[in-house]
Amino acid sequence: MYQDFYLHLVSVNSEANARRIAMVENCFGSSGQPLAEQGRVLVGEGVLTKMCRKKPKARQFFLFNDILVYGNIVINKKKYNKQHVIPLEEVKLESLKDEGQYRNGWLIRTASKSFAVYAATATEKEEWMAHIEKCIEDLLRKSGKQPPSEHAAVWVPDNEAAICMHCKKTQFTVLNRRHHCRKCGSVVCGPCSSKRWVLRGQSDKPLRVCLQCYDDLTRERARVPPLAQPAAHTPHTAAVKSALDTAGSGGDSSADDDSDDDDDRAPADHSHDEPKFYGDGEKTEETNNHSSKETK
Ligand SMILES: [Zn+2]
Ligand SMILES: [Zn+2]
Repeated sequence: MYQDFYLHLVSVNSEANARRIAMVENCFGSSGQPLAEQGRVLVGEGVLTKMCRKKPKARQFFLFNDILVYGNIVINKKKYNKQHVIPLEEVKLESLKDEGQYRNGWLIRTASKSFAVYAATATEKEEWMAHIEKCIEDLLRKSGKQPPSEHAAVWVPDNEAAICMHCKKTQFTVLNRRHHCRKCGSVVCGPCSSKRWVLRGQSDKPLRVCLQCYDDLTRERARVPPLAQPAAHTPHTAAVKSALDTAGSGGDSSADDDSDDDDDRAPADHSHDEPKFYGDGEKTEETNNHSSKETK
């Protein structure tokens, strides 16, 4: 009975659910994709602090029974943009220990992207994680799929590295820019990340890796029989390198894929709203109904 709880909610409260989803769609406007879908339920929503490349930023999250959606807050509860949609089937969560100012956090990991988020309180962290895990569990059970075993690296925030994490020499400046290894997430200097590798799951194109990861990957590949080798390329030509380098803004290749990072329009409104999980209220209702039915 409990295992189809979210599905059950659709029939119990489909109208409220449809209204909520329409509201989310509305808030994203034309910047988002249609979210209403047969069987989809909005499980909860709230603001989480997402660790971005430069610093932590407030982002609005919507947990559906099959996807996790987040975006930038333009006007609180009214307008969001930069919508990201993550299929929950691909998600793995990993709790983070509290560290200094970074508290109540966990990792959201997928094959193509991984990042840390932080809730306002320990209770909210617990709630979020439990709801997300429950949705993942239900999905995987229904589909019979296995969760992915490989996940993208979590990027070390820029300000945590004053010097290159590989050579431990290069100091970062306006000219000596920071780059991120796509394999391990380290912040490294240009020369220490001059190599490229095809990291399946992230892209079909060769991506920037640090020299350490390049060595590891090369050694790993040497162990695999030639026929089973994945097509990995390490372009050395200046043409390819400059193409890769100019692809990102300002020649910094790291400034590419996390497009929400450089948008600072989130309001400086720090009043805290607790997350809302729609299952909770209705669960009691449903359980009550159930028990009253059963006692009859
Ligand atoms: Zn270096
Ligand atoms: Zn690396």
